[in-house]
Amino acid sequence: MMDNKKQKLVVLGGGESGVGAAILGKDKGMEVFLSDMGHIAPHYSEQLEAEGIEWEQGAHTPERILDADVVVKSPGIPPTAPMVRAIVERGIPVISEIEFAGRYTDAKMVCITGSNGKTTTTMLTYHILRDAGLNVGLAGNVGRSLALQVAREPHDVYVIELSSFQLENMYDFKANVAIMLNITPDHLDRYDYKMQNYINAKFRILNNLTPQDAFIFWQDDPVIRRQLEQVTTEAKMYPFAEHVERDTRAYVDDDDRLVFDTPETSLTMPRAELSLNGLHNLYNSMAAGLSACLLDIRKDDIRRALSNFEGVEHRLEYVATVDGVRWINDSKATNVNSCWYALESMPSGKAPSVVLILGGKDKGNDYSEILPLVQKKVKAIVCMGKNNAKLLEFFTPHVDRIADTHSLADAVEACRGFASEGDTVLLSPCCASFDLFTSYENRGDLFKDAVKHLSDK
Ligand code: ADP
Repeated sequence: MMDNKKQKLVVLGGGESGVGAAILGKDKGMEVFLSDMGHIAPHYSEQLEAEGIEWEQGAHTPERILDADVVVKSPGIPPTAPMVRAIVERGIPVISEIEFAGRYTDAKMVCITGSNGKTTTTMLTYHILRDAGLNVGLAGNVGRSLALQVAREPHDVYVIELSSFQLENMYDFKANVAIMLNITPDHLDRYDYKMQNYINAKFRILNNLTPQDAFIFWQDDPVIRRQLEQVTTEAKMYPFAEHVERDTRAYVDDDDRLVFDTPETSLTMPRAELSLNGLHNLYNSMAAGLSACLLDIRKDDIRRALSNFEGVEHRLEYVATVDGVRWINDSKATNVNSCWYALESMPSGKAPSVVLILGGKDKGNDYSEILPLVQKKVKAIVCMGKNNAKLLEFFTPHVDRIADTHSLADAVEACRGFASEGDTVLLSPCCASFDLFTSYENRGDLFKDAVKHLSDK
């Protein structure tokens, strides 16, 4: 820095990323102040106390905040929040925790973004690298704060899940391997309902990539394709797709084998050996496998890890079979596209055999995307939300049976009524959970509890 004066760091938001950033700032000799409009969980406030970091909750003190040299903002705080606007007007840089942490490490960064599949792919990639013996950390939306790990528990490689919100405040950060799984409408409420704004945020993952870096992406995604015609990157390209076309680096061959074909390595394995099922998980496995090839992981290690990964909770998670009915928890399906993939992975027998639970907080959904699959595979829909009017209006003409419920208990009961032996009840709600639940985890946990109680009856 220019002089001996301590740099002033203000952190907005006292969750995992904010507290981590505050600790890293302190370790780097900055004067740190953390402010949260809401309530800081005791686990985090205790950490701040133990570190001797000043903090406040329930309000922002503008004098303190506007005196900062740099502000680290939690991704959950929208850029339109009055405090953030005031900071920007003052010309104070606002950065994300990942951007901040990236300044203090030379570790290799594998960064994963997309509308759906980020967590699964992040966990799978982490699983492969850790199993192969790398000193690897898990960060971003999942795992622990990158900043905290950089400060206190440095790793050689980080696998980082990046949401568009995180990418918004990243500038100089550079990935070594950038993965873009897909782009479909999500969070449009935060992007002035303009898809292009959301796409632009996602594509920030390409910022600063050099010819030594790699970009792994789904070749058949129309939105990614179109955007790639407009943006340039120096990174090496690693497209993956179900069927091989020009330059495809991961695909399925005519013998139903998954093929990885890169300048670094060439590897095949029977598709049936992948531990995760469904087309979407084929893509996730391709993306994770390609990143492992790029990091020189041995072929046997990649094959083994792709076939013994146990999956992630609340994502197409098998709960139980009760009276011959399979119950599946896909509570994390908070948008229409993820429900599309859930339905896609359901068996398509002669007659529809899925009882689908939909509903919650609608983020501007267009349900026509799943209509063909609903007509083919769904025998009944159970709406579960505070207000189901939009769902009822859209689906009533298209399914034989539909129920209007406003609690988990009533929804489960309705599913019991609709499902018979051999059917599947699928919670894949297309919506956020905040109308009836505190989070998608809470929704999934309560659903699993309710199903487990059925089996006790
Ligand atoms: P994210 O972290 O991006 O929200 P998750 O791995 O948590 O993604 O999965 C969220 C939901 O999307 C789950 O319901 C899952 O079944 C579905 N999903 C997973 N991978 C994909 C994919 N590649 N494309 C579309 N949907 C997916």
